Amino acid sequence: MRKILWMFLLALFITSWTSAYAAPAVVPEAKPVISLPKIASGQTVESRGNSRQSELSKVRWANHTEALTGAAMLRLVMDVSGPVEATGVVIASPTPRLVVTIKGTVPNKTVSNLTFDGKIVEKVSFDVSGQDTKVSFDLPIMVEDSDFKVFTLRNDPQANKPFRVVVDVNKPVPLPDFSFTAGLKNKVIAIDPGHGGSDPGAIGPSRYQEKTVTLAVSQNVRTLLEKAGARVIMTRQDDRDVYGPNATAVDELKARSTAANNRKADVFLSIHADAFSNPTVGGTSTYYYQKTRFDSMLASSLQTSLIQAGNLQDRRANPANFYVIKRTRMPAALVELAFISNPNEEKLLSSPEFQQKMSLGIVQGLERFFNQAAKLN
Ligand SMILES: [Zn+2]
Repeated sequence: MRKILWMFLLALFITSWTSAYAAPAVVPEAKPVISLPKIASGQTVESRGNSRQSELSKVRWANHTEALTGAAMLRLVMDVSGPVEATGVVIASPTPRLVVTIKGTVPNKTVSNLTFDGKIVEKVSFDVSGQDTKVSFDLPIMVEDSDFKVFTLRNDPQANKPFRVVVDVNKPVPLPDFSFTAGLKNKVIAIDPGHGGSDPGAIGPSRYQEKTVTLAVSQNVRTLLEKAGARVIMTRQDDRDVYGPNATAVDELKARSTAANNRKADVFLSIHADAFSNPTVGGTSTYYYQKTRFDSMLASSLQTSLIQAGNLQDRRANPANFYVIKRTRMPAALVELAFISNPNEEKLLSSPEFQQKMSLGIVQGLERFFNQAAKLN
């Protein structure tokens, strides 16, 4: 069902697309030549094996900028002599690039590498790898899987259109430049109680569940923050899946970051409990992904206050790649209150006194953060 919807949206997008046909390094303004047909569901061309080679003959490209949002993308259209299969993958090192593999296809002599202004793509190069063509897009910065699309189109003899491979690369949208005032009053704070519903999170040796303590602490934090004059956005308020019971893990996490993004939270805080195979391991840690100048400051402030409040082993503020701290478009941190896999800490996590202590620690950490961030203005 979701796939059909996606294809429909894609068809709408492509029909509304007007773009230009341009030689490399010429700014494409007028001359709309790349007009792609509607894609019906199932029209994507499948592989036909390697029994015959296809030829990649012509490459054209266009820039597209949305007037309303300023979002920009580059579309590259490659003509091929037959139906092919094409896939793309983003590679981070040694330099960021998107590599598109066109199976059973070789470029002909007219195809040459392209150089761009580097805002979205720096360079596109065509290489033969066995039976396949590898098209490499050198990128100015690393992009996510959602920032590019690779698809194929059937030929249309009536309109004199060949088979095509289309690659869309979005320009990454920069984050706003944040600045903060001191104190908690009027701040908008997104609190994300980890796990919930069908996902219990980690489970302790006495069967206490992570989703229970994350919700209890989040609710305490909410009460304390609201008393201090802040506005709180909760990604969940009870024991439930945020996206839905049958969601993928990514859908579930996306629903949490989207809630904070849509409601323009000042900061985002995800609350979890840790777990490890060795039951003697314990302590408190905080994670951040440095996407604004404030993420590590937020994590350090929280960590300092949580250690003062709970007095457990200081496992520090550490950088990490977790989805919710990466995809939220504001300073964000993820706290691991204690180890639920450690019997002593499981007991603490399940006690209302410890939950309240850690909740106070979080609120003090948030206040510490805003006071410190305000000094940078
Ligand atoms: Zn967790």
